[in-house]
Amino acid sequence: MDKDTTVIIGGGLQGLATAYCLLHKGEKVLLLERNEDVAREASFANAGMITPSHSTPWNSFSDIVQIFSGIGRKDSPMLLNLRYLPSMFFWGLRFLRNSSKSRFLRNSQHSYQLAKYSKQITKETRLKNGLSYDDAQNGTMKIFRDKSKLDQSIEITKKYSDSSIDMKILDQKGVVEVEPALADISDHLAGGILYPEDEIGDAYKFCKELENLIRTQGGRIHVNTEIKKILVYKNSINGLLTDRVEIRAKAIVLAAGSWSREILKQLKLNLPVRPVKGYSLTHQSGGLKNCPEIAILDESTHTAITPLGKRIRVTGVAEFTGLDDDIHIDRVDYLNNMLLSVYPKLYSQLTLAEGKAWCGFRPMSYDGLPYIGETKIKGLYVNVGQGHLGWTKAMGSASLLSDIMLGNKTAINPKPYLANRSL
Ligand SMILES: Cc1cc2nc3c(=O)[nH]c(=O)nc-3n(C[C@H](O)[C@H](O)[C@H](O)COP(=O)(O)OP(=O)(O)OC[C@H]3O[C@@H](n4cnc5c(N)ncnc54)[C@H](O)[C@@H]3O)c2cc1C
Repeated sequence: MDKDTTVIIGGGLQGLATAYCLLHKGEKVLLLERNEDVAREASFANAGMITPSHSTPWNSFSDIVQIFSGIGRKDSPMLLNLRYLPSMFFWGLRFLRNSSKSRFLRNSQHSYQLAKYSKQITKETRLKNGLSYDDAQNGTMKIFRDKSKLDQSIEITKKYSDSSIDMKILDQKGVVEVEPALADISDHLAGGILYPEDEIGDAYKFCKELENLIRTQGGRIHVNTEIKKILVYKNSINGLLTDRVEIRAKAIVLAAGSWSREILKQLKLNLPVRPVKGYSLTHQSGGLKNCPEIAILDESTHTAITPLGKRIRVTGVAEFTGLDDDIHIDRVDYLNNMLLSVYPKLYSQLTLAEGKAWCGFRPMSYDGLPYIGETKIKGLYVNVGQGHLGWTKAMGSASLLSDIMLGNKTAINPKPYLANRSL
């Protein structure tokens, strides 16, 4: 391997977006992925939303109450596994510390800046290359069953975005005008917020489009290649060891999502990112009546329901339970119940047994902000920790990182996300 190539570890949204942006700015890239295909982990069947409107981290006061009240309960949208608690202790303390009003607001503002920038780069990439990934640009809508929660959400969104997010506040009638399929449950709703500028799509199909662009534009992607070790000499990268060969590199970008921490541990670097397990369930909906047209988010349960072409996907659950990738049937039931509670008429037409259940791990930092940039080891960069907004922030994080690496002027201030704030 030539010493003039940047090697990217991990073929999820962050790795592919990084490879694309670097390639685009004139770099030689090689992406290494351990699975037989790209985007088979967290980037596979996520909720499919590109939502700067949802930029708050997951440590608001009400989220924390939900996490603790979920201990020992299988029907809670958020769950903390007590067995996993000791390894979470210090991370958890910092997670709690960042839930103070001032830090939460500051982190939300930084999160929003990156998400907004990222959405713009995603759009430019889509239009420039004619990408197609069951995408739709008709916005998203948050629905609320409790008026005080609706008011809180409006207030915090205005604060962190400096009132720059386009949002339409809706009463019960307005919600049903936007999404007639919600008519059956309108009596239970306090209202909603429409975010016309949000977008949706299938993240896996987006990744395959990026893969195709990278391969056809001269970048290389090797699947079935696991990185065993990053080699370091005198505090600079010296290459890396895969399950087959040793490779030299000009620079290395670690974008291995929830697995990045283990890889960095070997170098005595402590990446404060933890996996937060989520589930999705995808049903075929082609030809069925009462299908929704717009993606909705139920703020109180962190549940999303997204129409994706001829499919409908319900997504949710946040489990602090390590990297246990078993699909638990009670979680699948939970998602089906969510679908039933929102779209009863559509639900009654589905063939439940044919629904495709999936789980993935959101790589979550304690302050809700990713780690982007060079570590203490010269030539070793990271792009990790986008958490529940990893698609929303992927193109922006990658564009920012590529500018940092190439010494270009960055489009947004990189400081809040820099990797050396911890590594
Ligand atoms: C249920 C759920 C719903 C979500 N919904 C949304 C949403 O609507 N909008 C949004 O913006 N975000 C959403 N997210 C978050 C988003 O999906 C993730 O943040 C994003 O996919 C993370 O991308 P990643 O590239 O960091 O990690 P991953 O996609 O996990 O990719 C990491 C890659 O690294 C590879 N790897 C690991 N170790 C090695 C090794 N040693 N050698 C080689 N390769 C390795 C893995 O195989 C994997 O392919 C959701 C996540 C979940 C779980």
